[in-house]
Amino acid sequence: TPALQVKDLGLTIGGATILEGVDLEVEKGSFVGVIGPNGAGKTTLFNIVSGITRPTSGTVLIDGRDVTDLSVHRRARAGLGRTFQTSSLFPQLTVRENVRMAAQVALGGSLSPWRFPRPDDAATRAAEEHLVEVGLADKMELPSGSLSHGDKRKLEIAVLRATDADVVLLDEPMAGVGSGDVGALSETIREMHRSQGSTLLMVEHHMEVLLGLVDRVAVMYFGTIIAFDTPEAVMNNPTVQSAYLGTGA
Ligand code: ADP
Ligand code: MG
Ligand code: MG
Repeated sequence: TPALQVKDLGLTIGGATILEGVDLEVEKGSFVGVIGPNGAGKTTLFNIVSGITRPTSGTVLIDGRDVTDLSVHRRARAGLGRTFQTSSLFPQLTVRENVRMAAQVALGGSLSPWRFPRPDDAATRAAEEHLVEVGLADKMELPSGSLSHGDKRKLEIAVLRATDADVVLLDEPMAGVGSGDVGALSETIREMHRSQGSTLLMVEHHMEVLLGLVDRVAVMYFGTIIAFDTPEAVMNNPTVQSAYLGTGA
């Protein structure tokens, strides 16, 4: 069973076609890059897969189960996690606390901040492990809002690690990250994929970073997927070259 299947997805808003005939089948454990010019529909596709946006037509299956009519919350329970183009952290809570809440949910608890400090509980230990992995070991006590942009992105990866999702959607995880942090962040993402065994989909404009991470690339163009293949095949695909890469986008 594929980890994720999207079948004939369409979205029309106020007479405008945003997505049309989107088909995608993602094998378990694979890492798929999603590229395409601004406005192609990449974030909209992620919003539909994660349940934020309802499609006009088509279906979404996670591990063979039709989740098209499930809420965001139920989909997360079905094993889906994601990041957003803009930050989804709690800025006034500490770095540790942001990760601990996610770990607590993954361990079967509720999404609530500290009541009593329990520094040795399982969620705290898991959180600290993930923060060491992403290189934020010395920043656990800081409010997440005080972090640099690059560190916030690392924290989002740690939060995602803590949720232990089976299917993970990363929407431009490197957006706004300084060139000095891009290498470390892409290593963090590679390590997440390697050690967690989850299926990853990532929208990213840093092409050289994306191509170094993924097994396959889906190319979106005007609301549909025009190619889905290995990075090399996609880069050499004449349709892709003339539609998208050739435009210098
Ligand atoms: P990408 O992530 O590839 O840059 P988006 O998915 O954000 O593209 O947007 C795809 C298209 O859908 C754009 O033309 C955008 O303006 C439009 N769009 C997205 N969401 C809405 C909405 N809620 N209402 C109207 N148009 C939308
Ligand atoms: Mg965009
Ligand atoms: Mg987008």
